[in-house]
Amino acid sequence: MRIDVITIFPDYLNPLREALLGKAIERERISVGVHDLRDWTHDVHRAVDDSPYGGGPGMVMKPDVWGEALDEVGAAQEATPRLIVPTPAGRPFDQKTAVRWSQDPWLIFACGRYEGIDQRVIDDAATRMPVDEVSIGDYVLVGGEVAALTMIEAVVRLLPGVLGNPLSAEQDSFSDGLLEGPCYTRPEVWRDRPVPDVLRSGNHAAIARWRRDQALERTYHRRPELLSALPEGDLDKADRKQ
Ligand code: SAM
Repeated sequence: MRIDVITIFPDYLNPLREALLGKAIERERISVGVHDLRDWTHDVHRAVDDSPYGGGPGMVMKPDVWGEALDEVGAAQEATPRLIVPTPAGRPFDQKTAVRWSQDPWLIFACGRYEGIDQRVIDDAATRMPVDEVSIGDYVLVGGEVAALTMIEAVVRLLPGVLGNPLSAEQDSFSDGLLEGPCYTRPEVWRDRPVPDVLRSGNHAAIARWRRDQALERTYHRRPELLSALPEGDLDKADRKQ
C-alpha cells in the first residue's frame, strides 16, 4: 500500500517511521511519502491560508495551494488514490472503515489546520477520486496530523504480514461487534490478585465461553449501543443468558 500525507508540519508525521509502522516500511508492506504543503506556494510568505468569505474568526486553507499539491501528489502513481480529509465535521472513523481502506492500494491524507480547507478542494478532488471526510471523535484538535496518524495506524496493522500474529486483529475489539474483555499474563498472583481460575484450567471451550461473557459484560456496561447494533442472530443462546 502507498500512503501520502500532505501537511504544513511534516515533522508531526515522524512517528510513522517508528515501531510497527516503521517495520511495515522496512518490510516494504507500505511506502510512505510526507509532503510539505508550502512547497506548492508561490509567494515570499509561503502563505497557505486566507481570511474566510462571509467573515468570522480564524483562517481557511487556500484552494489554489491545495489544488496544486493534490494534482501533483495524486499523479505520482498509476492507481487511483482515495483522498482522506480528517475533519471533526466528517463521518465517524471506525474499525469497519479501517478494514475497507486496508483493501485500497493508495491513500492520500490531506491534513487541515486553522478552520479547515476550502470546500472546493474536496469537491473538485471528488470528481476524480473517492473522497472521505472523516472524524476520529467528537472533539476538536488543532490539526489533521494526529488524526491521520491514528487512522494510518489502524489501517496498516490490518495489512497482511504487518502484525506478528494475524489472529490478534481478528480477535480485537470491534471485530465481532463487541469490546474485548480483560487480559492477563504472569505472575499468577500479583498484589494478592489472582488470574481468573478458568484461564489456567486448560479447558479451551470454557475459556472461550468466559472470554465471550466478559466481552458481552464489558460492552453492556461501557458501550451498550454496540450491543443493540449487533445483527439479528449474532447472539447465541448462551449469550442471551448473560
Ligand atoms: N472549523 C472546524 C470545525 O469546527 O469543524 C475545525 C477545524 S480544526 C481546528 C483544524 C483541523 O484539525 C481540521 O481541518 C482537521 O484537519 C483537524 N481535526 C480537528 N479535529 C478533528 C477530528 N475530531 N477528527 C479529524 N480531524 C480533526
